Amino acid sequence: MKNEVNNLQLLEGDELRSLVPVIDTDIYTSGIFEKDAMDIDTHAVHQGYINGFLGKGGTLFTNCNVNSITRHNNIWCVDTTQGKIFVPMIINAAGAWADQVASLVKVGNINLEPKKRTYCNCDLFFHSGV
Ligand SMILES: Cc1cc2nc3c(=O)[nH]c(=O)nc-3n(C[C@H](O)[C@H](O)[C@H](O)COP(=O)(O)OP(=O)(O)OC[C@H]3O[C@@H](n4cnc5c(N)ncnc54)[C@H](O)[C@@H]3O)c2cc1C
Repeated sequence: MKNEVNNLQLLEGDELRSLVPVIDTDIYTSGIFEKDAMDIDTHAVHQGYINGFLGKGGTLFTNCNVNSITRHNNIWCVDTTQGKIFVPMIINAAGAWADQVASLVKVGNINLEPKKRTYCNCDLFFHSGV
């Protein structure tokens, strides 16, 4: 990781507590700090991709679960909660659930497992000294 990201600092003990006073260092013994990390407007980026996709003639289905996938005469039939979609090619972009989608066409899995994560994004520590 250090080879790919400049200015990574491994923090422990007092150093970690001084940056994140609420942290329990008996449980979380170390942290990684990158002073040059930045926020991006993920919503704007996402909308940019969607607009580009729609602009090139793509059709977007939302709230649309893939239930089964079959193949007839070189065409895939993707059976979804919004009906059947017929396509010549499928890209499996189901993220952490990609193995579950892959299992619908019985291709080998790559051992992906959706995990519960906890994420905390705030400026509080830097600006208020809390
Ligand atoms: C709280 C949080 C904060 C994060 N913050 C950052 C950050 O600051 N910076 C960063 O780089 N990364 C961040 N990440 C990680 C980032 O969101 C993921 O790495 C990224 O979204 C993965 O993209 P993906 O397209 O592979 O999968 P996803 O974005 O997870 O997309 C997979 C999609 O497949 C859909 N899907 C799954 N199964 C089916 C099915 N059977 N039928 C139909 N659709 C299905 C899901 O609904 C989902 O929409 C964060 C993640 C979380 C949870």
